[in-house]
Amino acid sequence: MGSGEVDGVAERRQWFEQTVRRLHDDVRDIDDGAPADYIPELATVDLDRFAIAAETIDGAHFGVGDTAHRFTIQSISKLLLYGLALETHGREHVLERVGVAPTGDSFNAITLDEHGNRAPNPMVNAGAIAITDLVAGDDLEARVATVARMYEQYLGHRPEPDRAVWESEWATGHRNRAIAYLMLSRGIIDDRVEETLDLYFAQCSVLVTTDDLAAIGATIANHGVNPRTGEQVVRPDVCRDMLTVALTCGMYDYAGEWAFTVGIPAKSGVGGGILGVIPDVGGIATFSPRLDQFGNSVRGVRIFEELSEQFALHLFDPARPWIRAT
Ligand code: GLN
Repeated sequence: MGSGEVDGVAERRQWFEQTVRRLHDDVRDIDDGAPADYIPELATVDLDRFAIAAETIDGAHFGVGDTAHRFTIQSISKLLLYGLALETHGREHVLERVGVAPTGDSFNAITLDEHGNRAPNPMVNAGAIAITDLVAGDDLEARVATVARMYEQYLGHRPEPDRAVWESEWATGHRNRAIAYLMLSRGIIDDRVEETLDLYFAQCSVLVTTDDLAAIGATIANHGVNPRTGEQVVRPDVCRDMLTVALTCGMYDYAGEWAFTVGIPAKSGVGGGILGVIPDVGGIATFSPRLDQFGNSVRGVRIFEELSEQFALHLFDPARPWIRAT
């Protein structure tokens, strides 16, 4: 690589950083949307927190705003648990229980793939609960340890749950209980339902920052190798499957519009986080707890729309190939 190209990379990074700073400034005044309140503890969050972070597959990191602020990962965990299930049990076993089709329904819809007698996809609650059912271990403690190990490999530190959110969801998560018992009645999940729900609520309550999420994104973008530790966290073929369902199902019933306009495999959570993965380039994460009608962060969606357009990040953008050089 000649020095001219190196300069080009440095310039592009500077351009990216300036743009992210400007976008953070422009978007911080948007106060549409509301925090999730169906989990009572989530309604108590600080509404004005706002952060954007990015990390490349070679470990270069950039962030602006409240990048050290911790929030619960919520549904972004679904993507990671899906990878764990595929790696542990293989595609066929997982596909028998959870399909890969976007639903067009809300994330907590009480619907199954009636034809296949399975959950519709792993990015909505039904699918995620069926995936959590597959977490190995003899009891809750052992299964929590399995999930904690997975998180630790992505994060580079031990995960910590927000106990208040975990308990709040345990106390009020009746809709998820309904979904789980429906799946039990169909023979999709095992009969240790309450334990599996507890594990599901625990995995959703893990605290992360946008810095953490960007590092997770960089790992997936890097075919499963954590750029910070060099460790293979998840297999490359599994990353491919994770990215596919993230693109088609990751933004709930907004997934189609998202794929069309933004075109970045992504997963959002009702905690206010969005994680986007640019394959072979890196991860981008946003946090703002005000959500739209789909359960996606209003400011986060806006940031991703802008970044996708300005840097040709859409997977099928004809101008995209240059980005591989960064
Ligand atoms: N813990 C949340 C729930 O199950 C996760 C949902 C989400 O982030 N969309 O309802």
